[in-house]
Amino acid sequence: MPSPLPSSASYVIVGAGVHGLSTAWHLAMELESRGQGSGRDVVLLDKSRPGAGATGIACGCVRNLYMTEPLHAILRHSVDVWNYDPVLFGFQQVGYVSCGEENQVEDYERIHKSQNSVDYNSDLYVGEDARKYLTSIWPDFKHHSIDVVLHEHLSGYAGTAQAVRGLVEMCRRHDVNVQSGVEVTGYDVQGGEVRAVETDKGRIEADVVLVCVGAWVPTHWEMLGLPTTLDVGYRDGSVVEGKDMWTYWRLEEGEVYFDGPYYTADNKNPPVLHVELMNTPVVDPQTGEELDDNVYVYWKNGTERMERPGIQGGGMPVKIGPDASVEPYGHANDEYQAGPDFADYFTACMGMLMKRFEGVRPNFKERRNGGIGAFTPDNVPVIDWIMPNVLMVADSNHGFKMTGLGKLVAKQLAGSMKVPELQPFKLDRYEKGQAFGSGTTHSPWV
Ligand SMILES: Cc1cc2nc3c(=O)[nH]c(=O)nc-3n(C[C@H](O)[C@H](O)[C@H](O)COP(=O)(O)OP(=O)(O)OC[C@H]3O[C@@H](n4cnc5c(N)ncnc54)[C@H](O)[C@@H]3O)c2cc1C
Repeated sequence: MPSPLPSSASYVIVGAGVHGLSTAWHLAMELESRGQGSGRDVVLLDKSRPGAGATGIACGCVRNLYMTEPLHAILRHSVDVWNYDPVLFGFQQVGYVSCGEENQVEDYERIHKSQNSVDYNSDLYVGEDARKYLTSIWPDFKHHSIDVVLHEHLSGYAGTAQAVRGLVEMCRRHDVNVQSGVEVTGYDVQGGEVRAVETDKGRIEADVVLVCVGAWVPTHWEMLGLPTTLDVGYRDGSVVEGKDMWTYWRLEEGEVYFDGPYYTADNKNPPVLHVELMNTPVVDPQTGEELDDNVYVYWKNGTERMERPGIQGGGMPVKIGPDASVEPYGHANDEYQAGPDFADYFTACMGMLMKRFEGVRPNFKERRNGGIGAFTPDNVPVIDWIMPNVLMVADSNHGFKMTGLGKLVAKQLAGSMKVPELQPFKLDRYEKGQAFGSGTTHSPWV
């Protein structure tokens, strides 16, 4: 029997995506270990159900390829959480291999150094070594212009449905009150604090509120009366005035049947592959037409998403702007599905990069795919108190992989004044001229 909706709670968490679920579970453990309470003090609300947002439709890649170095420590914690019970969460620690051209060598060197400084083991290969390394894993790799390869050994992927089930299970084991079908319709703000959360099923008085609502964050931001534009100061001294607080991007992904099977040279499930070639065009193998002037793809075995063996992956997200139709979300939304252009692009990249995938366009699985996300002004997460008793996790669409964020956020919620790993992600970085820069990539996931 589901628990009743309480009229008050010490902690109300809005949104049961990866961040709401992981935080609720870890908060329960944190309260228990501090002798401050238990999961019974935590209510987790979702207007639909756990995993109804981006978490339920993500590709599931778990990686640490970020030019924003403070993210590397967060991902280190995340791997610990994935490995807490990899079977329950469906985590496959196959590794993650990223490839770039010469223009990215310096960025990769920085990433490699930073990853290893936080014990996120990775190996870097440059020039001929990089190309040899690729063919040692995938003998048919067509490496043309690849000059740098980074192999993250701790990374991999997880099935999204399995991960959501696992996180809900951990919440239940720790007595968190998980409520599906309860929509937050407003926040009762008095004296600059949220006194209560208003829902379509009743009002809940709250001591502390966590807002982690993924693509719906702009709506909740407005409900809390916060400004939709701001001045953003960067580390080089430049300032962009009146920037949108939130910008939507749409993600295009898909699956391709492949009876291969898709294995490494030594018959193992391959690492997730990520290739960005900023100076190499993608050409349609049938028509010779240039589909794009650069390559950006990632893929892995399809497992959870496919009823037959195949590949699942995606490409560069597409910017929408400050407004988007969030409802209905995900695969139910006609506006934001990956179409035939994506299928052409993705399969052309596959054939360009591996001989085994030449001519796979007819095997593209026709189904609804893709979804949108709300990105912050510098495309890097904002994790901060936005009111004295309201903490926000806006992951800028980085975060199915970031199960460890919930562990750190739980410490903050339970009363730790400063969690060092979270300090770089404070909201005031924009006014303090500490916004993150982008590095060498076309991707917003910096
Ligand atoms: C197509 C796609 C592929 C992706 N692939 C990857 C990937 O491979 N790896 C990776 O790391 N990341 C990936 N991401 C990004 C990742 O999925 C998101 O960053 C992450 O899941 C966001 O989690 P969240 O908890 O913030 O939000 P969500 O998962 O979106 O959860 C928010 C929840 O809030 C609920 N909600 C909203 N409004 C209300 C309200 N008013 N009242 C109550 N509940 C409310 C929603 O129902 C929803 O369940 C992908 C994203 C997309 C869209």
